[in-house]
Amino acid sequence: MKYAPIAECIYCGTTQQPLTDEHIIAYALGGDKILPKSSCGTCQTVTSKVERSVLRDMLLQVRAQLGLPSRKKSLPKIMPLVVHNGNEQSTVELEKANHPTMATFLLYPMPGALEGEAPERGINVIGTQLYQVGGPPLKQVLDALGTKNATFSEEFKGSEFEKMLAKIALAYAVAEHGIDGLRESPLQKIIQGEIDDVGKWIGCGLWHPEPNPNLHDLKLVESGKWLVVSVRLFAHLRTPEYLVIVRVGGETDRPTFPHGELVVEV
Ligand SMILES: [Zn+2]
Repeated sequence: MKYAPIAECIYCGTTQQPLTDEHIIAYALGGDKILPKSSCGTCQTVTSKVERSVLRDMLLQVRAQLGLPSRKKSLPKIMPLVVHNGNEQSTVELEKANHPTMATFLLYPMPGALEGEAPERGINVIGTQLYQVGGPPLKQVLDALGTKNATFSEEFKGSEFEKMLAKIALAYAVAEHGIDGLRESPLQKIIQGEIDDVGKWIGCGLWHPEPNPNLHDLKLVESGKWLVVSVRLFAHLRTPEYLVIVRVGGETDRPTFPHGELVVEV
């Protein structure tokens, strides 16, 4: 869907043309919400670099497995699986349909501005969760290969992922709410890489929310002046809910969110 055009860059404020259309969630992740005329060329270079890093380094196999769109049509059809037999490690190449594709998501505490304390710089990571996004069940694949263990490693660039969350939340809040009052969000400086106080503004709500029929799910929560966006990527998989503060309000109307807790499956 297309929102009303913004006619200024939501990241730096310039009104100089040309302004480009922004996908709130990247096209390559299957994002279909568009914010027209909302980014200048310079800022588009910055946000594209952030997204490219997440899409290529972290989510390439996931995108291939879920059949997400790709402008360059270069998503892999054969994907590696690292398996172990005793002390021996080997890599098996599997067709996409036979590959148990996994995604890792980081768990954070609540955003510091909502609750508790955040570090002066960066963000605390308090855990990771691994999700199978597609392919046959892992055990079935390992049994067929006559092995018991597989290793999944991925280059998880936390800071780029957090910048992407900031970009999604800012663009969505502007789309739903308009740009007035959001020009001085804490998120612009995070996206531009000027300040790394990301733990104050970004964190997790529920770690294991109920599955959602949507591929991605965005919600804007408003309380007094507070604006918080709940971002769920691959929401059908019960991936963590990320909370991103777009605007801070007063003490008394600070919104509260349910906490994440570990789910142990037995
Ligand atoms: Zn700009």
